[in-house]
Amino acid sequence: MRLGRIGGVVSAIALAATMTACGSSTKTVDQEASASAAAGNAGALIGVTMPTKSSERWIHDGNNVKQQLEQLGYKVDLQYAENDIPTQANQIENQITKGAKLLIVASIDGTAITSQLQQAADAKIPVIAYDRLIRNSPNVDYYATFDNFKVGVQQATSLLKGLGVEDGKKGPFNVELFGGSPDDNNATFFWEGAMSVLKPKIDDGTLKVASGQTDFKTAAILRWDPATAQKRMEDILTKTYTGGKKVDGVLSPYDGLSIGILSALKSSGYSKPYPIVTGQDAELQSVKSIVADEQYSTIFKDTRKLAEQTVKMADAVLKGGQPEVNNTKDYDNGNKVVPSYLLDPVIVDKSNYKDVIIGGNYYTEDQLK
Ligand code: BGC
Repeated sequence: MRLGRIGGVVSAIALAATMTACGSSTKTVDQEASASAAAGNAGALIGVTMPTKSSERWIHDGNNVKQQLEQLGYKVDLQYAENDIPTQANQIENQITKGAKLLIVASIDGTAITSQLQQAADAKIPVIAYDRLIRNSPNVDYYATFDNFKVGVQQATSLLKGLGVEDGKKGPFNVELFGGSPDDNNATFFWEGAMSVLKPKIDDGTLKVASGQTDFKTAAILRWDPATAQKRMEDILTKTYTGGKKVDGVLSPYDGLSIGILSALKSSGYSKPYPIVTGQDAELQSVKSIVADEQYSTIFKDTRKLAEQTVKMADAVLKGGQPEVNNTKDYDNGNKVVPSYLLDPVIVDKSNYKDVIIGGNYYTEDQLK
């Protein structure tokens, strides 16, 4: 599974326009459908479900989506499930019962809400997968996310930069690898992206995974839980890094895990300069940690832009139109390829956080003190 380069923007609107131009009767039907959808859905209720408030990014995502939908006059039911799958399933069912006209879902387990999505489809409620692909269901209409393979490539590239490999240092460097939650489709994309960069360096001896734990299953951290990551790092340090052996870098796919990993390193005696630890999401604590020379880097995924893209998609669908997508091949959910819009992630480390994070008004300088 390899995410190819994003081709040119495929405008479904343009496609639809071309198709309708071919037959005037279709055009009339489409136009009527659009007009009635547009009229019928003005001010409609939209159900938004997010996985958890335990990670800041989802709070930003939820707030941004809600605000932007409300600006367009929609009503919003925003729910968080604290990473509990049955809770999220219930929330979706409730939203269907309350008469939601569209669902935006950032799933916890991308395979666990198939029956709720069937209910949505039966009630003709379109579904947009938000950030995480919903798997094994035909009832997912669109997907808005970041280029997840690229996130992994960037994490690995940043690890190599931090270690000095990009500047010609030969190592060998001791690294350890962490993966995300195995039930989150993104986690595999991140891992495969990262391994596309790291595997050749492991094969040529520049990097050594001293624990020997190089497969995704062993490295994966269920539900992205920081405490589980901390424990795994502690175990690896105790078992593998004995007799003066030191770890030089850790591939971490998410800021919450990075903080747990750094705690493990600190409690086993590491101090500045710390091993190179990567991350993802530009969470406040991690950006502060980068400024303080602890965590090395993160991947910034601007949740404001993801919300904007998703809200545009939702609005187009509710008005009976076709949303813009730019990837129609990489996100096969096991049942169909879901038309997707992929945004670009950005590596952030101490060299560019001022430009990207402060300059981009994501956090103020004061917040980072
Ligand atoms: C998201 C990441 C996030 C992770 C943990 C993934 O699905 O794409 O941005 O770090 O979940 O919340």
